[in-house]
Amino acid sequence: MKIVVDTNKCRASGNCIIACPIDAITIVNGAAVINHDSCDLDGICIPACPHQALDFDEK
Ligand code: SF4
Repeated sequence: MKIVVDTNKCRASGNCIIACPIDAITIVNGAAVINHDSCDLDGICIPACPHQALDFDEK
Protein backbone atom coordinates (compact mmCIF):
# COMPACT_ATOMS: atom_id res chain seq x y z
CA MET A 1 0.00 0.00 0.00
CA LYS A 2 1.08 3.56 -0.62
CA ILE A 3 -0.22 7.13 -0.83
CA VAL A 4 -1.00 8.24 -4.36
CA VAL A 5 -1.56 11.71 -5.78
CA ASP A 6 -4.25 12.38 -8.38
CA THR A 7 -2.41 14.95 -10.46
CA ASN A 8 -5.67 15.97 -12.14
CA LYS A 9 -6.97 17.14 -8.75
CA CYS A 10 -3.74 18.48 -7.19
CA ARG A 11 -3.49 22.28 -7.25
CA ALA A 12 -0.12 22.40 -5.47
CA SER A 13 -1.66 24.24 -2.53
CA GLY A 14 1.01 22.79 -0.25
CA ASN A 15 -1.41 21.88 2.56
CA CYS A 16 -0.14 18.29 2.48
CA ILE A 17 3.46 19.45 2.81
CA ILE A 18 2.57 21.39 5.95
CA ALA A 19 0.57 18.45 7.31
CA CYS A 20 3.20 15.75 6.76
CA PRO A 21 5.18 15.36 10.01
CA ILE A 22 8.24 13.87 8.31
CA ASP A 23 8.54 16.11 5.24
CA ALA A 24 7.84 13.27 2.81
CA ILE A 25 6.05 15.47 0.26
CA THR A 26 7.43 17.94 -2.25
CA ILE A 27 5.91 19.81 -5.17
CA VAL A 28 7.38 18.83 -8.54
CA ASN A 29 6.12 20.33 -11.79
CA GLY A 30 2.98 21.67 -10.12
CA ALA A 31 1.87 18.56 -8.27
CA ALA A 32 2.59 16.85 -4.96
CA VAL A 33 5.07 13.98 -5.03
CA ILE A 34 5.28 11.46 -2.19
CA ASN A 35 8.67 10.12 -1.15
CA HIS A 36 7.62 6.52 -0.71
CA ASP A 37 10.92 5.61 0.93
CA SER A 38 10.24 7.87 3.90
CA CYS A 39 6.40 7.93 3.97
CA ASP A 40 5.14 6.02 7.02
CA LEU A 41 1.54 5.77 5.73
CA ASP A 42 -0.01 7.61 8.69
CA GLY A 43 -2.53 9.16 6.29
CA ILE A 44 -2.37 12.64 7.83
CA CYS A 45 -1.97 14.28 4.43
CA ILE A 46 -5.21 12.83 3.01
CA PRO A 47 -7.72 15.01 4.92
CA ALA A 48 -5.33 17.97 4.74
CA CYS A 49 -5.88 18.27 0.98
CA PRO A 50 -8.75 20.63 0.10
CA HIS A 51 -8.99 19.08 -3.36
CA GLN A 52 -9.17 15.38 -2.34
CA ALA A 53 -6.07 14.68 -4.41
CA LEU A 54 -4.43 12.23 -2.00
CA ASP A 55 -5.57 8.75 -1.10
CA PHE A 56 -4.34 5.30 -0.20
CA ASP A 57 -3.60 3.01 -3.09
CA GLU A 58 -4.80 -0.26 -1.61
CA LYS A 59 -3.00 -2.34 -4.25
S1 SF4 B 1 0.95 9.44 4.79
FE1 SF4 B 1 1.91 10.60 6.46
S2 SF4 B 1 4.13 10.34 6.16
FE2 SF4 B 1 3.12 9.74 4.23
S3 SF4 B 1 3.16 11.58 2.98
FE3 SF4 B 1 1.16 11.55 4.07
S4 SF4 B 1 1.49 12.73 5.98
FE4 SF4 B 1 3.53 12.23 5.11
